[in-house]
Amino acid sequence: MFYEVSKEDDYLFRGKRKRLVEQLLQKGITSKNVLAAIEKVPRHLFFDNTTARPALLDHAYSDKALPIGAGQTISHPYTVAFQTQMLEIVPGEKVLEIGTGCGYQTAVLVEVGAKVYSIERQKTLYDKTKLFLPYIGYTSPRLVYGDGYKGLPQYAPFDKIIVTAGAPYIPSDLLVQLKVGGVMLIPIGEGENQEMNWLKKTSDTQFDKKQLGNFKFVPLLQNKAQ
Ligand code: SAH
Repeated sequence: MFYEVSKEDDYLFRGKRKRLVEQLLQKGITSKNVLAAIEKVPRHLFFDNTTARPALLDHAYSDKALPIGAGQTISHPYTVAFQTQMLEIVPGEKVLEIGTGCGYQTAVLVEVGAKVYSIERQKTLYDKTKLFLPYIGYTSPRLVYGDGYKGLPQYAPFDKIIVTAGAPYIPSDLLVQLKVGGVMLIPIGEGENQEMNWLKKTSDTQFDKKQLGNFKFVPLLQNKAQ
């Protein structure tokens, strides 16, 4: 369990994050808020520390997706930064995240000022992250164990929605729960790669859409799991 994890964040890790930020800047992440968030969030604390932790730590700040337990992964830093940048979050906005996982993206959203609601379908991951995020100081996100396809109607509408698993299609409940004027980022595709879709809700029934290139995600699965 994460209790064994130190909250240590020494100069070596801070140095590695600075270099990661430089790489992200070169790859086109230009939002100062997003870069500052990546520089701040201690990604090395988010891994599955029950297995192979020392080996993983070496890679904590390379631009890679890595295991977090329960067969899931922590998203690439570039993917997290890219989706966050494209959401153009204004501090105080309500953001719904689908796929909490280890909570890294959640923490980055908090750092750019979002009021975050996040859903995870795997009970083991949900339980772990629900303890872990407050443990390292992120007390504000509202974490929910549930099925992301359904969203969170009780907290809707949301200014922004971010889906962090590859979806076969855009869940209609999420479209309904997005505010008019709001933006959704969702990777679509059932194969190896997904196309990142940007949607802006222009009226109750109309959306502007853009496709933003290929990314790799674990699949968005139906229903809750233990
Ligand atoms: N946001 C995470 C990404 C985790 S990977 C990060 O910062 O790294 C995607 C996560 O989505 C996994 O934890 C997976 O269990 C979860 N997931 C998949 N389908 C889901 C669904 N229908 N509802 C909620 N979470 C889902």
